[in-house]
Amino acid sequence: MVHDCFADEIAIDFPSVRPAVERMRHAFLGEPDADVVCAEVSLSPREALDGRIVPLQLPVRITCPHCGGRGETWTEACSLCCGTGDSLFYQHVRVSVPPGVAHGARVRLRVTSPDRTPVRVEVRIAIRSAV
Ligand SMILES: [Zn+2]
Repeated sequence: MVHDCFADEIAIDFPSVRPAVERMRHAFLGEPDADVVCAEVSLSPREALDGRIVPLQLPVRITCPHCGGRGETWTEACSLCCGTGDSLFYQHVRVSVPPGVAHGARVRLRVTSPDRTPVRVEVRIAIRSAV
């Protein structure tokens, strides 16, 4: 029951995270060689003081499931990945931010799943100035 209440709180707070996700997605697409997925979480001073669990959608680069990474099917460029052989998969993770976290702190985690190689994730904590 306690867990259910906590889940509701996370859902309500989710919209405040979205702008950071958009920026992070752009940054990721600009760095095709990065093997560390970088993200940024924006917290209010109060949230930073208390610590919290922040849900994130992380773009993880995977082999294109349509062409198997070749970038083409027969003689035509793969329509799903536009010939890159890569595909983006959005991995849902929950980042545990410790209480009293400082602006600019980085939280590292590793996302593992049975069917993909582990992905390293670095989340930068940004604390909004009080309004
Ligand atoms: Zn493809």
